[in-house]
Amino acid sequence: MVVGAGPIGSHLAKEFTDRGHSVVLLEKGDVGKPLKGTGHVSADIFNHVPRKDKFVEKEIHGAVVHNRFGSYSFGRDRLTSYVLDRVKFDRYMADRARRAGADFRKERFIDLETKKGKVVVETDSGKYETKLLAGCDGPLSDVRVAAGLEKPGLFMHGVFTKQIEVGPIQQDYVEVFLDASRDFFGWKVPEEEQFEYGLAVELGNDSKKALERFAKKRGFHIGQIYSGLIPMLPPEKTAGGRVFLCGDAAGQTKPLSGGGLIYGLTAAELAAETVDPERPTTLEQYEKRWRKELMEEIKAGNSIRKFYGLPFFLRAPFLWAGKRMSKNAHMDRPTSLFH
Ligand SMILES: Cc1cc2nc3c(=O)[nH]c(=O)nc-3n(C[C@H](O)[C@H](O)[C@H](O)COP(=O)(O)OP(=O)(O)OC[C@H]3O[C@@H](n4cnc5c(N)ncnc54)[C@H](O)[C@@H]3O)c2cc1C
Repeated sequence: MVVGAGPIGSHLAKEFTDRGHSVVLLEKGDVGKPLKGTGHVSADIFNHVPRKDKFVEKEIHGAVVHNRFGSYSFGRDRLTSYVLDRVKFDRYMADRARRAGADFRKERFIDLETKKGKVVVETDSGKYETKLLAGCDGPLSDVRVAAGLEKPGLFMHGVFTKQIEVGPIQQDYVEVFLDASRDFFGWKVPEEEQFEYGLAVELGNDSKKALERFAKKRGFHIGQIYSGLIPMLPPEKTAGGRVFLCGDAAGQTKPLSGGGLIYGLTAAELAAETVDPERPTTLEQYEKRWRKELMEEIKAGNSIRKFYGLPFFLRAPFLWAGKRMSKNAHMDRPTSLFH
């Protein structure tokens, strides 16, 4: 059983179903709503999910990074990444899981009880028995809490708003503002007919005020505000007994940018490859495999992220480093910045 039909839970359900397992996929809400994030991803996304025009909103050619002392362009001469329509993407992923044979049920996970050889799951509609339970239920993961697993080490609060433009947007690069947030950065991301402006702060700091300051400085209007938590720094254990976590529930995100789609999809595939519901000890292999694949990058990204906490005038090294960055630097692999 998989809890949460976000992109990671849907992908996990599909991957397990493809391997012949019968999977129930529980979702408490309306898939894709509320809007979960910006949807800016590297082309690596298509190593995990087939490319479909219906959810690809924009092709991106590089970035322009700004701070108080100037701006630096990076990768403007090539296709570097994509902006996905997150509502359409999340719905596509859930439909894909359903088409593969996952049994989708609109139910809220409430609690679990581990019994010999099974997990008894309580939802708002009844009780189920399952051999294996996957928590893909996002940053605040009810499964994580019920299983007694630790939460990720850091939570950022992301806020963003959309500004509609007259006619299609020509800008084909993203902008990063190092001086928009004391703890992170701000962004301006082009979509088909609007720009998204956003930033993140450490949970507990005033994100709305920071967005207002950012809007005043960069001259955009704040309309509807969307927001969400970005969990970072996975806890020591993401599996125990017959329960495991995947995606945001496990803190499998990039500390450098807050992106979680590619790492979560990667972890979901590793889970489907390694975990055998008949042999829960295989969960240890999942834990080892995903850490081997992602933890070095997460640690490297987190080391660089710490520079975001410096006073604004000390953030100049970001631009300095950017100018020296290799053309092969990859947005999902911070270690590539050091090569
Ligand atoms: C402001 C912001 C901007 C972002 N920008 C990007 C970006 O540009 N690129 C990128 O790669 N990532 C980005 N992210 C991160 C990305 O959105 C997440 O990493 C991604 O959504 C994680 O997917 P998930 O399936 O693990 O969790 P979620 O997308 O959170 O899905 C979890 C699902 O579980 C369901 N659920 C929760 N509790 C229960 C329950 N008790 N019972 C049943 N169902 C339940 C929820 O309704 C939800 O559908 C951003 C995040 C934020 C906040």
